[in-house]
Amino acid sequence: MTANLLVNGYEVVIGLETHTQLTTQSKIFSRASTAFGAEPNTQASAVDFALPGALPVMNKGAVQRAIEFGLAVNAHIAESSVFARKNYFYPDLPKGYQISQFEIPVVQGGSVEFFLEGEKKSVRLVRAHLEEDAGKSLHEDFIGMSGIDLNRAGTPLLEIVTEPDMRSSAEAVAYAKELHKIVTWIGICDGNMQEGSFRCDANVSVRKPGEPLGTRREIKNLNSFKFMQQAMDYEIRWQIGQIEDGHTIQQATVLFDPDTGETRAMRTKEDAADYRYFPDPDLPPLVISREWVEQVRSEMTELPRVMAARFVRNYGLPEYDAGQLTQSKATAAYFENAVAAGAAPKLASNWITGEIARRLKNQDSDITASPVSADHLAWMLKPLSEGLFDNSVAKKLFDSLWKGINTGYAAITLPAPTMNGGSFDTTTSVIEVIRSLGLEQMSDTGELEKIIADVLAANAKNVEEVRAGNTKAFNALVGQAMKATQGKANPAQVNALLKKKLG
Ligand code: ADP
Ligand code: MG
Repeated sequence: MTANLLVNGYEVVIGLETHTQLTTQSKIFSRASTAFGAEPNTQASAVDFALPGALPVMNKGAVQRAIEFGLAVNAHIAESSVFARKNYFYPDLPKGYQISQFEIPVVQGGSVEFFLEGEKKSVRLVRAHLEEDAGKSLHEDFIGMSGIDLNRAGTPLLEIVTEPDMRSSAEAVAYAKELHKIVTWIGICDGNMQEGSFRCDANVSVRKPGEPLGTRREIKNLNSFKFMQQAMDYEIRWQIGQIEDGHTIQQATVLFDPDTGETRAMRTKEDAADYRYFPDPDLPPLVISREWVEQVRSEMTELPRVMAARFVRNYGLPEYDAGQLTQSKATAAYFENAVAAGAAPKLASNWITGEIARRLKNQDSDITASPVSADHLAWMLKPLSEGLFDNSVAKKLFDSLWKGINTGYAAITLPAPTMNGGSFDTTTSVIEVIRSLGLEQMSDTGELEKIIADVLAANAKNVEEVRAGNTKAFNALVGQAMKATQGKANPAQVNALLKKKLG
């Protein structure tokens, strides 16, 4: 356990509320399309416009996705769940209320587990409930008017609410990333943060350790992990500053401005009572049979944590590696393909989560864009684990594979595997490629000894100085020997041989 992370002697407390737009084709209570980016108001029906007499009809696909989420986080799926009206006035909400869930949400409890700097964390969920998204106000500055676009109105949302379990902005971001992984993995949300498909409200408070929870301020609508981190860090510093200056924190809803990097109050916070929640008489209680839940469970894709457990069990990987490899379906598939093609699991894991992840991060892409395929990787790792060359050669070879196939320079075409006693023998071809690229290490001690003898003969003065105890002169000899082998010798071996020769 790391010690509690205190900021200037204060403990940070964060709870997140995440709105995820569900991937249904049509809206939660109408048949209008949910597709993003259409002309304003072309994807809104009478229900979304709130025309008198139009009645909502529940979209079964939205409920199914909520069930899938509940199963993915080990939550309880309510037997019966109720929709409520949340009343408030806003131009993009023509009904004057949002249909949401209040007392009995579909998903109750559950937890999300993830690693933060190698330490396992678990954040408890309070609930996840279904609701409808609102429309959007469009401010047309050039004509000095604002308009309302109701295309987004009625898009199904699952709002996922945590307990105030997080103790740093880094932990809150790690949770949000894990949640993003889960909802995209099971396919209930496309995860597109720029388009607003996944947006977080961060509730932040601070307190002296051991004290009761401080008053929170809620930062609304954070739609990138970077902004989320910046907004929370600013807010934490601001709250501590206020308290240190003798002020008290007022509960409030605040907005983050990415241009200034600051949060500012939008309105004082409403209480539940302000919304005058009551059950929506237009919608009957939602009854979810256990048969339906079991059917959904049986049809669900293998979950990341289940897959991670399988990787630990079947491939003997450490839990941490398994967690890293199941960050995305594509990464997990790449790993399993490499292993199926003959790579040793732990070695494949090291390369995928190390060298490959680093390179992909540098070019801001993911494993699907890797110029080295899982087969290529296995082709290289098999002889590496047999000890036919060492890691430094492997790194150079990998670099050539990566660049060669990427840019066309020094392109390597993989030699066709040759049949050897009924099984493919790809080992020779790897060695051939290493030779042709001049990457091989000099392991022939006889040859190396001869080179060293030449170096000693040609540097008599240095040799004398070494004998007189000058370590600089010794290093110069090592350098000379490495140069004579064009860098192919193993420096440790050169060191040892020189020491032996010089006594
Ligand atoms: P509301 O529905 O009014 O926003 P909730 O009690 O449902 O209020 O809490 C909303 C979120 O705020 C939850 O994620 C919860 O964990 C978090 N939260 C509650 N109290 C605090 C606090 N003192 N500090 C930080 N987060 C908090
Ligand atoms: Mg809230």
